[in-house]
Amino acid sequence: MPDTPLSLLHRVFGYAAFRGEQAAIVDTVVAGDDALVLMPTGGGKSLCFQIPALLREGCAVVVSPLIALMQDQVAALKELGIAAEFLNSSLDGAAAMQIEREFVSGKLKLLYVAPERLLTPRFQGLLEQARIALFAIDEAHCVSQWGHDFRPEYLGLSALHERFPDVPRIALTATADTATRAEILDRLDLGAARVFVASFDRPNIRYRIAEKTEPRRQLLDFLGEHKGEAGIVYCSTRKKVEETADALKQAGFTALPYHGGMDNDTRRRHQERFLREDGVVMVATLAFGMGIDKPDVRFVAHLDLPRSVEGYYQETGRAGRDGEPAEAWMAWGLQDVVTQRRFIDEGEAEDAHKRIGHAKLDALVGLAEAASCRRVALLSYFGEASQPCGNCDVCLNPPTLWDGTEAAQKLLSTVYRTGQRFGAGHVLDVLLGKTTEKIDRFGHNQLSVFGIGTSQTDKVWRAVLRQLVVRGLLEVDHTAYGALKLTQAAKPVLKGEETVMLRAIEVRPARSKKSRFAPSSGAGVHDDEDPLFLSLRAWRRETANEKGVPAYVILHDATLREIAARRPATLAELGEISGLGTKKLEAYGEAVLAVVAEG
Ligand code: ADP
Ligand code: ZN
Repeated sequence: MPDTPLSLLHRVFGYAAFRGEQAAIVDTVVAGDDALVLMPTGGGKSLCFQIPALLREGCAVVVSPLIALMQDQVAALKELGIAAEFLNSSLDGAAAMQIEREFVSGKLKLLYVAPERLLTPRFQGLLEQARIALFAIDEAHCVSQWGHDFRPEYLGLSALHERFPDVPRIALTATADTATRAEILDRLDLGAARVFVASFDRPNIRYRIAEKTEPRRQLLDFLGEHKGEAGIVYCSTRKKVEETADALKQAGFTALPYHGGMDNDTRRRHQERFLREDGVVMVATLAFGMGIDKPDVRFVAHLDLPRSVEGYYQETGRAGRDGEPAEAWMAWGLQDVVTQRRFIDEGEAEDAHKRIGHAKLDALVGLAEAASCRRVALLSYFGEASQPCGNCDVCLNPPTLWDGTEAAQKLLSTVYRTGQRFGAGHVLDVLLGKTTEKIDRFGHNQLSVFGIGTSQTDKVWRAVLRQLVVRGLLEVDHTAYGALKLTQAAKPVLKGEETVMLRAIEVRPARSKKSRFAPSSGAGVHDDEDPLFLSLRAWRRETANEKGVPAYVILHDATLREIAARRPATLAELGEISGLGTKKLEAYGEAVLAVVAEG
């Protein structure tokens, strides 16, 4: 019987069914038509070109900008028994020549190349001699000159279509917005392509956004729920990366720092350990993450506010690519907003750019302050309508709102009466009727507002202050040492014409309630104590070390978990489990059954 997409999915990849649009995309490319695929990270883009590569005659040429990613994908394909190779600068001349020969003689099914190599006359010559099944252009948004990942070589890829008009092309990206989409279609000359837009929801990721009170302790509390799991902690500065990594090490975590100020060698070593070992926490600046397709990152934590919703979504999207439960956690505070506003204003950019910067920050702060479902807010930012998700902090633990009109009036009046010249600290001191040198010096204990706020704690006042700034009733003037000033929007509130509903500060942690999201295997984030799962993981680590590949290239966590839950006794039973194709069953079946039998 000839192979079909579904038979290959079962036999080679060991998966039961296509997800979402995968089947339609595969059919399009197999039929020789062009496709543009927009799918979130972890959506399953790779299968969309890997299965057509196996079904069409010749070799698929996959353009990918990231060397580390190429190597891991090729290692994973080889594990599945597929003839795949890559050509990039990490190979020596002899090895590269050998692969070129295999390519031309038709021995390969997939060849990964960097764009700059693809466009060389030498490689173009090879393309003329080989039989090409399709071109896959991964990370297609790199063609966008306005995006942050622009690669000039990507602009040259439109030439492929001119020289090989009959070879189908599939461009793939996780960047959602319509402007980028139009740019990709235009610059890659994909006018006739079928466009597939998947939902950008990542239902297995739980979003939690907290107010920053004691960041270090809050982080440790959060990480305490993720012991032994791999994750990323993002910090805004190199210094903070170093300090946080040290603190986590002291607390007993395997934590490694990663930032642009470290030498290349150390950085590479740390990245390698994160990919290959189990349970490493990477503490990093944004320099880390692009092209990391480790599927079992269980959490992404932000200790500082990212710059935009797009950035936040891209960074948090690195968690849970394997579809298992994962968490995105962020702690933010007013200071983050103030610092970033200053950054934008003091930058070199033109005014129009600065306005965009502020607007993007506003959108993110809006998300952080939201009193309704985070996921609904996120998805609507990307133009997708949805219902409250049941798997974010707001859904699990709805914030209480209180009528803060009077509190707002008191705070705004204190800012006004002290002359709109002072920062938050002094204003709150006056409000709370404290005795300080500064209050004495300015005679602020004589003001009518002195001590009018003693019915609330300092913590509550800080929350009120933050919300007033975020809603634009107060602004922080960073050209005047962070002085608070009233805006036009404060007037109706002061006059009593408008009520202000405020979010109460959180008392219960979000984890106190169970989520309605349950992974397919029925296991939760904390089920890792299962001794059989741990034995399987230990076996996998050894096997991966012997082969010199990352552990997830052998078998995914989700597969190990299902094995631990179902305890198969025969190869046939084992073969039922998702993620075990024929090759893996052959290679590891007996060993896995032995671990199960012992455990
Ligand atoms: P992307 O490139 O879109 O980020 P990947 O191609 O890396 O996503 O796929 C994400 C994960 O989902 C991988 O672990 C992959 O093996 C798995 N996967 C993809 N398609 C399926 C499917 N139809 N059934 C089960 N698992 C799948
Ligand atoms: Zn929700």
